[in-house]
Amino acid sequence: MDLIIKHGTIVTATDTYQADIAISGETITLIGHDLSGDATTRIIDARGRYLFPGGVDAHVHLDTPVMGTITADDYQSGTIAAACGGTTSIVDFCFQMPGQSLGDAIAGWHVRAAGKAAIDYGFHIVVADPTAAVLEELAGLPAQGITSFKLFMAYKDALMADDWTIIQVLEQARQSGALVMVHAENGDAAHLLQQRFLAAGQTGPKYHLLSRPPRIEAEAVARVITLAEFVGAPIFIVHMSCGEALDELVRGRARGVQVFAETCPHYLNTSVEDLDRPGFEGAKYCYSPPPRQKSDQEMLWHALANGTLQSVGSDHAPFNFVGQKELGCDDFTKIPSGAPGIEERLIMIYQGVHEGRLSINRFVELVSTAPARLFGLAPRKGSIAVGADADLVIWNPDATLELTPARLHQRVDYTINQGRHVRGLPEVVLLRGKVIVADRDYVGQIGSGQFLQRARFGQAMQ
Ligand code: MN
Ligand code: MN
Repeated sequence: MDLIIKHGTIVTATDTYQADIAISGETITLIGHDLSGDATTRIIDARGRYLFPGGVDAHVHLDTPVMGTITADDYQSGTIAAACGGTTSIVDFCFQMPGQSLGDAIAGWHVRAAGKAAIDYGFHIVVADPTAAVLEELAGLPAQGITSFKLFMAYKDALMADDWTIIQVLEQARQSGALVMVHAENGDAAHLLQQRFLAAGQTGPKYHLLSRPPRIEAEAVARVITLAEFVGAPIFIVHMSCGEALDELVRGRARGVQVFAETCPHYLNTSVEDLDRPGFEGAKYCYSPPPRQKSDQEMLWHALANGTLQSVGSDHAPFNFVGQKELGCDDFTKIPSGAPGIEERLIMIYQGVHEGRLSINRFVELVSTAPARLFGLAPRKGSIAVGADADLVIWNPDATLELTPARLHQRVDYTINQGRHVRGLPEVVLLRGKVIVADRDYVGQIGSGQFLQRARFGQAMQ
């Protein structure tokens, strides 16, 4: 045995118990009481700490061109920030550029990550230019470990997929064992409202919010669930933001549709009021869907607790306020859409444990176990079990922090959680048996993250 973590409280999606964990190489090899090794075995004392499986963030954007600029984090800074926040696996979105083959897009994403990733990573493929050849290419991707296809119902004249495209991609996914993910907002309706506001000279950040009302999301959620129902394919809806859309999710599921969905920490912690901040500050809160009412935050917490929502992704899409968000200072439709959050995801959801909104086991399920299972990473990732990768977070439930950009590792000049006092922090993080974070700082080997060949939907990773 190379390492034994002693006296910690192990927390999985189902159980909480005290035991020691032994690690050989990259794998958990034994869980039991009073484990001991030999003279060469390293011991970590985790008394008074929780042991969680490493976080799995299935919704991040790194080194990605968006709206004429590029995300502030690349693979190195973004994965270091993820690690410092307790996340040991991500699934990033590989974007196909217009005219590009999926093969070329994927090759480009491998180059972005290689030698830089501090944690393990996989790719979803974004189908942006759905030619007949591209739709055929999809069939071959699961064999390369890319087992989820992403579509946008928003962003007219850019990424927006029409119903026939959605149906064809769902059918390809059904045949090849992939899971289709959707950004569900009606892009045509948002476009109309945007044009009206701009024509009236209403150009500030709050019109971003007003041009994307809840019904625009709810309509797209209802429609895509219906399309998945006709095709007979499972579907995953990303970043659900409001009660009106949750109602459609519940209805679809009651009809027997295999529909899964996530929300993101920003929908639990920001609201329409943040768009009324003075000056151009509201641009920090321009993401799509936009922040909603406080009452929606409550409904989302309930949906996380009661199983209506399966998973929490960060939707990390970082743009500096200075120089990037400012691109939209005269026109809200030019504000790069997104917010940072890869490092704060576990921390912000854990606050729900403190507040009595979630059990600690449900917390682990939402940030690790469920996304690992849905996206083909189980049983290697997402749990603490013999034979699983030794991806572990040693969590100090009593540590506190005031969140500021300077105290985070994300390479971006703001946080939407500015000034928030949080309790409960990752202290030590292990990736496949190696300590990569100690005292909230990255101490690992840059580039030690590995590409994850994900299993087909419903299957186990080899
Ligand atoms: Mn999106
Ligand atoms: Mn996204």
